Amino acid sequence: MADYLISGGTGYVPEDGLTAQQLFASADGLTYNDFLILPGFIDFIADEVDLTSALTRKITLKTPLISSPMDTVTEADMAIAMAKFEQGFITDPVVLSPSHTVGDVLEAKIRHGFSGIPVTETGAMGSKLVGIVTSRDIDFLAEKDHTTLLSEVMTPRIELVVAPAGVTLKEANEILQRSKKGKLPIVNDRDELVAIIARTDLKKNRDYPLASKDSHKQLLCGAAVGTREDDKYRLDLLTQAGADVIVLDSSQGNSVYQIAMVHYIKQKYPHLQVIGGNVVTAAQAKNLIDAGVDGLRVGMGCGSICITQEVMACGRPQGTAVYKVAEYARRFGVPVIADGGIQTVGHVVKALALGASTVMMGSLLAATTEAPGEYFFSDGVRLKKYRGMGSLDAMEKSSSSQKRYFSEGDKVKIAQGVSGSVQDKGSIQKFVPYLIAGIQHGCQDIGARSLSVLRSMMYSGELKFEKRTMSAQIEGGVHGLHSYEKRLY
Ligand code: GDP
Ligand code: GDP
Ligand code: 5GP
Repeated sequence: MADYLISGGTGYVPEDGLTAQQLFASADGLTYNDFLILPGFIDFIADEVDLTSALTRKITLKTPLISSPMDTVTEADMAIAMAKFEQGFITDPVVLSPSHTVGDVLEAKIRHGFSGIPVTETGAMGSKLVGIVTSRDIDFLAEKDHTTLLSEVMTPRIELVVAPAGVTLKEANEILQRSKKGKLPIVNDRDELVAIIARTDLKKNRDYPLASKDSHKQLLCGAAVGTREDDKYRLDLLTQAGADVIVLDSSQGNSVYQIAMVHYIKQKYPHLQVIGGNVVTAAQAKNLIDAGVDGLRVGMGCGSICITQEVMACGRPQGTAVYKVAEYARRFGVPVIADGGIQTVGHVVKALALGASTVMMGSLLAATTEAPGEYFFSDGVRLKKYRGMGSLDAMEKSSSSQKRYFSEGDKVKIAQGVSGSVQDKGSIQKFVPYLIAGIQHGCQDIGARSLSVLRSMMYSGELKFEKRTMSAQIEGGVHGLHSYEKRLY
């Protein structure tokens, strides 16, 4: 790269800032707070920034965000919300018969959460459609009317808009939109009910164009396994349940156990994507890439709940770890997940600018509505529990976390994490859009229209960084105020 760059017509501008290579050339390990990215040139709006990025060799996500496989972060609610839930055809809907009562609908509402119910002759699927009942048909009935028969309140078949079996989801959606109703029953040529679709789901599809789905419109989902014998059984169950990607969950992934497990999975389920880790050096990454992993999880000791570096003396500052591993793995087309230590949306942008394709978050997503566990109050603050999977607390409760931290059967358990709490963040339905917009604005300031442009700018040396002294870090935060309120979105 030339020492001087041409800028407009006014002459030369001296080279400024460090390339990523220069930034990480010194022996010091750097964290996200130790450096900044120098701004570039903006000629597009933030909304246009394309955040499509690879999770593994074969799986691409529309946003680079993943929730951590931890028992206080990700269960079904989180996974579904992260992938953006949307139903297509519902082929086994709740169905009632004309001789069922309004009380049965109310009960269905309580039990399942919806009240738009098709009515068929026998009350089963595959039987003749005779009507539909929705909340609007029963809302104003008095308490004593719960025994009213559905035949009296339902909208009869003759008035219903239906679609024929074989209709595509797209056509069905168009009919539903024109009918302005909440449900569209799908019937075969004998007028028997074969499916329904719900307007709510249509709206979700419109509201969540970024949903991560496979070719069957199923949401993408990954799951973690360990490297012990009984994890092979868990692996079988996960693949039967349709997991798209398997994460080998270990704090130090460069082991004979993990390499053997990668070989085992690749032989038994050749099409299953496998993410190995965790690693923080190119040498660790090499062994897992040689074994055949499709993605790498990077981070050791940088997690918010983590005491690995303190206790085991091993680990690496996360900025350096992400850069070094990503720079090596990209030569083999293996994407990297920056796992842990993400405290702000700025950290997400930095991780991506250092070559990570996606980021994995624990504490940032803990204490959202979708995270497992109940809220509780402490000193008037609304909190949820958040704990390291290597904390004694987690190891006592779950054998899977023991395996991650190599201490199953050990006489003395060595904790690698702590157990604590995190303040309520509300729903990820609001928080994730904030992260997405934040990343887009970061990329806009940098002058990168997409994450792939961002990465190529970094590797070409066009993207410039600068180290931050301690006082620069203080300057970069809020300072000098008597008091302030930090509202982020
Ligand atoms: P409703 O108007 O009270 O029926 O509720 P909505 O249509 O607003 O929401 C129902 C949600 O539940 C949609 O996302 C459906 O896809 C989902 N759902 C799942 N199974 C069923 C089912 O058997 N019947 C109905 N009506 N909805 C279902
Ligand atoms: P809601 O908003 O959740 O109560 O559900 P809908 O918008 O689906 O239904 C509103 C009213 O229209 C209810 O009385 C339904 O029984 C009735 N309804 C539902 N589908 C149809 C249809 O295709 N044609 C007609 N004429 N009425 C319908
Ligand atoms: P966070 O986003 O909270 O900073 O970090 C989450 C990450 O920390 C997880 O994805 C996982 O890699 C790591 N982690 C989770 N629990 C523990 C633990 O108990 N000890 C250590 N060393 N790392 C943990």
